[in-house]
Formats: sequence, structure tokens, C-alpha cells
Amino acid sequence: MTSTDPESLTIIGAGLAGALLATLLAQRGWRVEVFERRGDPRLHGYAGGRSINLALAERGLHALRAADADRAVLDQAVMMRGRMVHPLGGEPSLQRYGRDDSEVIWSVSRGELNITLINAAEAAGATLHFDRGLESVDFEARTISCRGDGRSHVHAFHALLGCDGAGSTLRAQMAMRQDLGERTEWLDHGYKELEIPPAPDGGFRIEPNALHIWPRGRYMCIALPNDERTFTVTLFMALHAEAGSDDPHFDSVTTGADARALFERDFPDTLPLIPALEEDFEANPIGSLATLRLDRWHLGGDAVLLGDAAHAMVPFHGQGMNCAFEDCVALADCIEGHDDLASAFAAFEAGRKPDATAIQDMALENYIEMRDLVDDPNFLLQQALERKLQARHPGRFVPHYSMVTFMRIPYAVALERSNVQRGILVDATRGLDSLEQVDWPAVDAEVERKLTPLTGAD
Ligand SMILES: Cc1cc2nc3c(=O)[nH]c(=O)nc-3n(C[C@H](O)[C@H](O)[C@H](O)COP(=O)(O)OP(=O)(O)OC[C@H]3O[C@@H](n4cnc5c(N)ncnc54)[C@H](O)[C@@H]3O)c2cc1C
Repeated sequence: MTSTDPESLTIIGAGLAGALLATLLAQRGWRVEVFERRGDPRLHGYAGGRSINLALAERGLHALRAADADRAVLDQAVMMRGRMVHPLGGEPSLQRYGRDDSEVIWSVSRGELNITLINAAEAAGATLHFDRGLESVDFEARTISCRGDGRSHVHAFHALLGCDGAGSTLRAQMAMRQDLGERTEWLDHGYKELEIPPAPDGGFRIEPNALHIWPRGRYMCIALPNDERTFTVTLFMALHAEAGSDDPHFDSVTTGADARALFERDFPDTLPLIPALEEDFEANPIGSLATLRLDRWHLGGDAVLLGDAAHAMVPFHGQGMNCAFEDCVALADCIEGHDDLASAFAAFEAGRKPDATAIQDMALENYIEMRDLVDDPNFLLQQALERKLQARHPGRFVPHYSMVTFMRIPYAVALERSNVQRGILVDATRGLDSLEQVDWPAVDAEVERKLTPLTGAD
């Protein structure tokens, strides 16, 4: 079995991270084999299950550029300039994410993206085995056992790279050898996906170049455009009743009729857009959301985890895939830059873990911003000040969203600077109604004192 050859690497999972990592490693001359539990999506259609579309930002795009897959992906993507906020009973308004159309994010279909990356991996020379779900690993014999076509298949390996997602089997097998310090923090909120179909003339029913948000305090709907002129709507709300709150929750909204009543009350402008609301609500599962934290991502040079298998996060910063793609580039670089895999995996873990933790924490914080703050007057004033300070201190005061979304500075640096900046914004706007009342000399001095210039940021 040739896979024990030291130039060969075995990837578990041909999802988003697995297919990209296979491409990057095969392009660098490694013999790559990939084992994927599902069937080949090019033959049987994409059986994704989770979130139909995703927001792609600079970190993910940069990784796609490294694999030469960016153009193919962008050809099928829809640009999103900002958040279109739909207040209850008010007019929708666009809050731009960046300064202009060079600072945007892209809505991509998970299935199309996965197929593009699978094609890229094969074109680069990787061998993909579909219908092969990892069941167990024998680290002594250096073999894996995979299930497919109704039986078990045994394959030799030299080293395993775990891209098998949040419920990773490889992680469970590694944990049987060494405690990985695994903790899963479940969010007490879940989600349900619905669909806005195309308009009768075949076009989009609402503004296509935006991520739509209907914030309602402790719950919300969002909608991302798809290139076939539909939108995927996601309702996020509590799973169960919350103490001291009479907000809706999935225990109380169970039938299509309950969903209609909720939407009539809280999201009335979406009702004409979602003709199959009752059917979608009853047919689609409630998705659960969690943050997965591990103390260790690798077992010497035998196995390493990345993407959701190492650090699944809640989706509210739209960064899980972007972070997983950054992992792929970082791991490929570490493998190339070290003489042995144990040091490469150790360097990868040491370099990426603080950043994964930072984006996991920022993703949790962003839920509150999206569902509650985007139509709050204090928050809007802080945002206006944020834009002014960006213009007054280019390269020094860079908005939080820009650092995470349009730049590739380490997430941990973005988090640290965001905390300092938030302090400045809160202090400078306390008790004010408009930017005209801001004490500019004092704020400018604070910015100069507390923030160093950020390279490559203007
Ligand atoms: C509702 C929602 C919205 C999201 N929105 C965004 C967004 O806008 N932007 C963003 O960047 N991220 C987003 N994410 C996060 C993103 O989906 C994940 O971070 C990303 O899919 C992680 O990629 P991955 O390859 O690590 O895992 P996955 O995409 O889960 O891929 C894992 C692969 O491994 C395979 N597999 C599983 N078990 C086995 C096994 N035993 N053997 C072999 N193969 C196996 C699976 O079939 C799958 O193909 C969102 C997530 C959710 C839930």
C-alpha cells in the first residue's frame, strides 16, 4: 500500500477545507489521497445539509487565489456591499461594510464551491475516494478503516490531516490515544433555513447586492443571495423559553401555522417573499450551533486537525470557512517549511490556535451586534464615529469589521485592537446625540496614544 510513503498525505473529508488543502498540497508535489463519507457531488448532486450559501471574504479569497481557484468561485458568486437592515415597520437601509466596492463580501453556494474545489484538487493530482467514511484508525499499524458500499475498506497512511468537520471521527479516534482537552459550548439558539424564490420575471425579489438582516432584539432573520436569483433566509432564535423573556423560541414555534403567525407579527415584509413559508418551516430541520475548543490539535507527526474539526464556531461573523481556508494555507506552508511532520504540525497549532480562539470569540459577540445593535441609535453613532476616525487616522484606526473581513492580519490582533477601539468609541460618544458634539482633539489624542499604525491597512 503506497500511502505509507513519506511523500504521501491522507486527508479525511473532501468538504471545503479538505478539497482546498488537497489542491494546495498536490500543487506542491505531495501525493494526496482524500477519503470522503458522502458520494461524489458531481455525480449525485450536493448533499450538503448545512447552510446553503456562505459569505466569502478576503481571507478565504486569498487562500483560493493560492490554489488558483478564485476566478472560478467568483464567477458564481453574488457581491454583497453591506447589511440591508429591515427595521420593524420602517424602511430598509444599507449599512456599507467597507469604503467602496473594493471592500465587499461574496455570497457563494456551498455546493458549487465544493464542486469547484474538488475539481481543482483532482486537476492538481490528488486522488479522491467518495463514499468512504472514516470509521477507525489503527495508529500502530498505520491503517484507517473506512465504510462504503456496505463494507469496510482498509488503507495504509503516512500521516492524517483531519478536515472532517465539527463532528470529526478522526478527532474522536485521536482522543482515544491522547486527551485533546475537548469542550463543546452549545449555543442555546438554533436556526432554520427558508427560501425566497425568484420573482415571476426571473429576477431577484429584493436588492441582490446585500446581506439582508431583520434584527429583532434576541432573534433575527438574515437572507443571502444565490446566483440563481433566490435568497436563502435563515431564522435564528432561542431553542427554548428564556428566563424573564416572552420572546419566541423553537419550542413554541413548531408548526407552519406558528411560523406564519410569528412572521406576520415580526417579519411582515418577508411574507410576500416566502411563498412556501409553512412547507419550508415544517420540512427543514432546526440547526444547532456550537463553539468547539480543543487544547491540542495534533498527535506528533501522525495526525492533525484543521477547520471545523479543530475549532468549529458559531456563524455570526461569516468566518468559519474563511478561517478554515486560512488554516489550509498555513498548514501547507508549515509542512513545506519543516523537515518533519511533527514539527510542522506543532508549528501550525502554535501559530493558528490563538487566532482560531479569537475569531470564535468575535463570532459569539457578533450575534448580539447583528440581532440587536444594528438598529440601535448609540451603536449607529459609534459606527459613524468609527468611519470618521478611519478617515482621520488612515492605517491606524481601522474598523473592526474591516480588520476581520477585508484584511489578513491575525485574528488575535484584530480582536485586541477592536477592544481598544470599542473603548474609544464608547467613551467618545457617551451621552451624545450626534458627531457634532464630539471632542475631536481629545479623541484624536486617544487614538494616537492607544493605537499603533497597522501595516498594509490604508
Ligand atoms: C448556518 C451556518 C452558516 C455559515 N455561514 C458561513 C459564512 O457565511 N461564512 C463562512 O466563512 N463560514 C460560514 N459557516 C461555517 C462553515 O460552514 C464552516 O466553517 C466550514 O464548512 C468548515 O469547513 P470544513 O471543511 O472544516 O468542514 P465541513 O464543511 O463540515 O466539511 C467536512 C467534510 O467531511 C466529511 N466527513 C465528515 N465525517 C467524515 C468521515 N467520518 N469520513 C470522511 N469524511 C467525513 C463531510 O461529509 C464533509 O464533506 C456557516 C456555518 C453554518 C452552520
